[in-house]
Amino acid sequence: MRHPTCPGAYLYCMEIINGNSTAKIIKDEIAQEVQSMIRSRLRQPHLAAILVGSDGGSETYVAYKIKDCKEVGFRSTLVRLDEDVTETSLLEKIGELNQDPDVDGFIVQLPLPDHINEQNVITAIDPCKDVDGFHPVNVGKTVIGLPSFISATPYGIIELLKRYNIETSGKNCVIVGRSNIVGRPLSILMSQKSINATVTVAHSRTKDLKKVCSEADILIAALGSPEFIKADMVKEGAVVIDVGTTRVPSTETKSGFRLKGDVKFDEVAPKCSYITPVPGGVGPMTRVSLLSNTMIAVKKKC
Ligand code: NAP
Repeated sequence: MRHPTCPGAYLYCMEIINGNSTAKIIKDEIAQEVQSMIRSRLRQPHLAAILVGSDGGSETYVAYKIKDCKEVGFRSTLVRLDEDVTETSLLEKIGELNQDPDVDGFIVQLPLPDHINEQNVITAIDPCKDVDGFHPVNVGKTVIGLPSFISATPYGIIELLKRYNIETSGKNCVIVGRSNIVGRPLSILMSQKSINATVTVAHSRTKDLKKVCSEADILIAALGSPEFIKADMVKEGAVVIDVGTTRVPSTETKSGFRLKGDVKFDEVAPKCSYITPVPGGVGPMTRVSLLSNTMIAVKKKC
């Protein structure tokens, strides 16, 4: 709604959702729990990661995961395998971690080299240690609302909505993107009885996407196309969650690139009630959710 005397302004009080500070709060909660476990003479939670090859992006993500573990007092183990490791050898390593009573949970950093079948790898992980939540058993449990490991990005988004007390019940939620790690699991979670949104999943074949998006009370953009969502696709007062992170070249940063979200932030933000920035919105919540899943594994709750 436009302001009656100031046509350029909206009546909504827009709040930028701070993923960094929310993730920090959750990290502190986990760190306190770990301290209390150690005081009770229980062993440290232990997260392991398998990294195949030395892809730059994967190296960075795994380094972040190890740093996050250190910050909350987890033990971490990085298993490095050569780029040309056979699928059989990788599956053997997974079997070892499945059997290792000292490892609470582990991940295999994706993507994997082309000669390895990703699905064979995911299904080889013990579902009770599958802290990435990619195993079909965990996906299936999520669908029917049983306790499960939920993949980190959807988990983080749900946690953000909860911690900001954002009303979801009866709201129209449009998710743009239907990937197995973001859009699809998120659509299942948003429609669950505890959340009660009415969910539409849009994708590259969706007709009149602008109309579909502009009917959303909660719009979640997870398509990987920088600044795709413009102001004329967003309803006034909507909650906008931007999952997209695309590296675009930049002369202003040391690295030579910067991260862009799927939402044209400057023009969309003034129309929203809440919006996540990129960076500093969903990203930090994804990172902390892996730690939360590891705590669930420690407690054998899945
Ligand atoms: P993905 O596997 O490439 O899936 C993209 C989805 O978007 C597909 O379902 C695709 O439709 C849909 N799509 C693409 N272009 C579209 C268009 N023009 N209109 C409508 N739908 C369109 O991507 P993803 O792994 O889900 O990741 C999405 C984005 O989120 C990426 O930028 C990724 O880097 C980012 N991400 C961020 C985090 C984080 O922590 N912040 C975590 C994970 C991913 P079809 O199915 O029809 O092809």
